Amino acid sequence: MKETGSISVHTENIFPIIKRWLYSDKDIFLRELISNAADAISKLRLIGYSGEFQTSGEEYEIRVDLDKDARTLTVSDNGIGMTAEEVKKYINQVAFSSAEEFLQKYQGGDVKQQIIGHFGLGFYSAFMVARRVELDTLSYKSGSEAVLWSCDGTTAFELTSSNRAERGTSVKLFIDDESAEFLDEAKIRDLIRNYCDFLPVPILFNGEGANRQKPLWTQSPGSLKDEDYKEFYNYLYPLGEEPLFWIHLNTDYPFNLQGILYFPRLRADLDWTKGQTRLFCNQVFVSNNVEEIIPQFLAPLQGAVDSPDIPLNVSRSFLQNDRTVRRIADYITRKVGDRLKELYKEDYERYVQCWKDINMFIKYGVMNSDKFYEQVKDILIFEIAGEDRFTTLSDYIERNKERTAGKLYYTSDTGAQAPYIDLLKSQDIEVLVLDAYIDSHFVSFLERQNSDVRFARVDSDLDESVLHKDKAAEIVDPHTNKTRSEQLIELFQQKLGQARLKVRAEALKSEATPAVLLLPESLRRIKEMSALVNQKPMEFLDDHTLVVNTSNPLIQNLQRLEDTGGDEKLVSLICQHVYDLALLSQKSFDAAAMGQFIQRSNDVLTRLATRAV
Ligand code: ADP
Repeated sequence: MKETGSISVHTENIFPIIKRWLYSDKDIFLRELISNAADAISKLRLIGYSGEFQTSGEEYEIRVDLDKDARTLTVSDNGIGMTAEEVKKYINQVAFSSAEEFLQKYQGGDVKQQIIGHFGLGFYSAFMVARRVELDTLSYKSGSEAVLWSCDGTTAFELTSSNRAERGTSVKLFIDDESAEFLDEAKIRDLIRNYCDFLPVPILFNGEGANRQKPLWTQSPGSLKDEDYKEFYNYLYPLGEEPLFWIHLNTDYPFNLQGILYFPRLRADLDWTKGQTRLFCNQVFVSNNVEEIIPQFLAPLQGAVDSPDIPLNVSRSFLQNDRTVRRIADYITRKVGDRLKELYKEDYERYVQCWKDINMFIKYGVMNSDKFYEQVKDILIFEIAGEDRFTTLSDYIERNKERTAGKLYYTSDTGAQAPYIDLLKSQDIEVLVLDAYIDSHFVSFLERQNSDVRFARVDSDLDESVLHKDKAAEIVDPHTNKTRSEQLIELFQQKLGQARLKVRAEALKSEATPAVLLLPESLRRIKEMSALVNQKPMEFLDDHTLVVNTSNPLIQNLQRLEDTGGDEKLVSLICQHVYDLALLSQKSFDAAAMGQFIQRSNDVLTRLATRAV
């Protein structure tokens, strides 16, 4: 038998287009051919189950053979094979039309970069790397004759009978000169491992096993131990630390999806824009970047997701609007929420331990997805400053409401804001630690969601409960007709000479600190926002308030010194220094301010020493 013919395609010279067009992604040809081989084997398996066909006991396998001298690469399977009629139908017609359709959909522009998995180009992707392709095949059907199909990259093909004796198909590629890289053994081994590692059929490369074959995600969770999951993680991410915990996904309605998602320890260099999860389709690797399927806030998750229901030969923008894909994203989000709730309920201690690593993306997640927020809102926890303890918002409010009138106090910097924290703690008020970059948004978000939640940073206002409120008893100076507090305020205003600075005099219950600065919560937030938008560091707020503590011995002595008409210069120096110290806990000085501060400190100490001798 010998038959020649012309393949009917509408796009003339389909091969040059394929070559040029998918140039950057040539690698996928091997995945496509191996997938076809695996399909041919599963088809035969299915037929075997139905009893229509019986193997003679040989193992199913795919062989990849590289012959450097002949410059050929061959992919063979002992699957279903094809008859001459089937070759004409599937290879000449189906494969061509699917390749043609694929090209027509995505011709032009940079759309190709955005196509997710390229499945669909199939058999003809071989022509991206080969100047000639031969397909030698024998169908499983008894009485079939083997045929050899060949094509040299034009629309003409040749079909002859072949003396092949074993059932199955071999596809031999005569690698073209520009694709010599595919004659490199290491390269081929990498490609097999990268794309086909988990195919449930052994792949032999030049006679040696080249795939691992055990996709953990297809096994039932009940049969797996922690060790299995950890080992699998280690296999996927050899350099990663042990994962915190994981979720085994498994559903077949309303879509098919299996997978294992790991919560990794958070690394400082984590890139939130890049998905870490690997997408598979029937155990064949598709892509590393699956933002459309794994919502962006879950980008740090790692692992594998396998679904035959994700359309792969479509552009990413299409994928975003695809209903199944949206459902899959929702499903994954819900499963993540469920897992977190389970951990919270069943192993609270571990949950707290993991919080450090996971809080960032939970916070990010609740701000991005209403559904996720609804799911996890009751398990959002907050560290209490100075205590090795966490609390939920409602528990905090419940415990502190009598003293704080429902306000939630938080610190963004436990070191710098220590005086404020101590002040509140001395009155039995707990302070929450919200010191992550994301927390200023998170705070606003929580307030928008809950009308009864009001956050105040420890330095934004002084809680009534930290002040002695016996102003009525204040002495009024008969000469000036002013209270002691009013005098003190005037003194500081005059000595500091800053028009926009507000000064308050208060008797704090703690006498330790001479003065603190307050930045009104709302104003500070506006400034923080605009600093963020303008990408500039936040300028220091003009509208701050200096609260001078009248219970503090230094302040009391200062006032006495002023009363007795003491050293004018020293009074000035102390006022300025008290202000500097309060400022220091809010921001770092620039070079000039630092210089002045050091100079003044030296002056104060010199005076102290002079007096002491
Ligand atoms: P797809 O696999 O997406 O259907 P392809 O272009 O890869 O498209 O292949 C077209 C058809 O050719 C397949 O559907 C299958 O029927 C047949 N085919 C390809 N490779 C093989 C093979 N190794 N063994 C048996 N049939 C094959």
